[in-house]
Amino acid sequence: MTRSYVIKPELGKTYPFISRGKGIYLFDQEGKRYIDGCGGAVTASIGHAVDEVAEAMYAQAKEVSFAYRSHFSSDAVEELGAKLAEWAPGSLNWSFFVSSGSEATETAQKIAIQYWQEKGRPTKNRIISRWMSYHGITMGALSMSGHVLRRKRFVPLLEDYPAITGPYPYRRPEGISLEDYALQCANELETAIKRVGSEQVAAFIAEPIIGASGGAVVPPDGYFQRIREICDQYEVLFIADEVMTGVGRTGKAFGIDHWGVVPDLMTLGKGMSAGYTPMAATIVSDEIIETISKGSGLIMAGHTYSANPQSAAVSLAVLKYVEKHQLIEKSAQQGAYLLSRMEQLAEEIPLIGDTRGLGLLCGMEFVKNKDTKEPFPLSAGVASQVIAKAFEKGLLVYPAIGGLDGVAGDSIILSPPLTITTEEIDELIHILRDAILAVQQELQ
Ligand code: PLP
Repeated sequence: MTRSYVIKPELGKTYPFISRGKGIYLFDQEGKRYIDGCGGAVTASIGHAVDEVAEAMYAQAKEVSFAYRSHFSSDAVEELGAKLAEWAPGSLNWSFFVSSGSEATETAQKIAIQYWQEKGRPTKNRIISRWMSYHGITMGALSMSGHVLRRKRFVPLLEDYPAITGPYPYRRPEGISLEDYALQCANELETAIKRVGSEQVAAFIAEPIIGASGGAVVPPDGYFQRIREICDQYEVLFIADEVMTGVGRTGKAFGIDHWGVVPDLMTLGKGMSAGYTPMAATIVSDEIIETISKGSGLIMAGHTYSANPQSAAVSLAVLKYVEKHQLIEKSAQQGAYLLSRMEQLAEEIPLIGDTRGLGLLCGMEFVKNKDTKEPFPLSAGVASQVIAKAFEKGLLVYPAIGGLDGVAGDSIILSPPLTITTEEIDELIHILRDAILAVQQELQ
């Protein structure tokens, strides 16, 4: 029998079959219930099987699902573009639609390079990024990513882009204040630009809150304000990768809004369609669009499914649902509650070294020694064990493993749907506690 590669019996790994979902719950074909404590991959942000989205999907499919972006626009696409422009800060008014976060960051990379070409400065074509970052799995996106484990096998094929240290407050050098640490990390960008030469640098890319490679690592205040200053001073575009943090996940419309900083380009994915369809976007400023319009007049990017009416209608229904149910505000409120419950667990369980997060993007890091913060070797697979135990007990949590090759990233992310109630958070914490205690006991 031919099988999908999702099932990997030859690797000793099989998965249950999904049957249905409702709200924060998923059910497999055996009838087992799981709390979706991480929205899959920080994606299912409005919960499962929402009627309004299903209706919007059907209504659009009855009219037209696909029309190619070089032939037509559509009401759904234009309305979605207008809604995102309303949500986005500054003059980020132009959305280029794609189908995944990796496509969105790679499109941002291309638009940034093209922008400088159109300005007659073609040598500005390198992107600076950070270690302990993740911007996607395709080659361009991976070139910009500092996720050690995911890069390792492909390094010879990647662009040789410079990378700086990302702020990691829990593991900052001893004795330094958060304020000084923020500036120290941000100033690394200035050093890197000077070393490479600003005439070689097109853009700097960063996740407002580090996700898959760190586990919801929140930068100290002042960091992104200084990054913006440096980018302005050296004429380097700032790309905020909001694929994980966007659309209310952190308790604001976009993660970068916590620091009042306006990027030149922004990428969205995941929560933009909340898992109801593959959909993502690169949002760019008036200045960039005007420059390209006056130059070649064509953004040299795009995919077959870019801006298809079906995905646009679904994503629009998701954004309207977020607005109607005030899910951004709920994310802030429920996130504060979730984090307080995680902090209680950390007081009780020595295995938990740190808890952190903003809104409903929360992280938990496991350590061998809480006093010294000594990490486990990556080979011990502690976060993976917690994830497996939680799964067994009916709770899904997301891995943040291997971002700094064993130093950081023995972490998990909790990012349930923004609709989660206080009682549901209590239920989630109850299962998580059992899972962590079970792993702690096995380690002793
Ligand atoms: N950027 C960030 C910040 C992400 O977290 C991810 C995925 O986890 C991506 C980009 C890549 O998105 P996708 O997996 O949809 O290609």
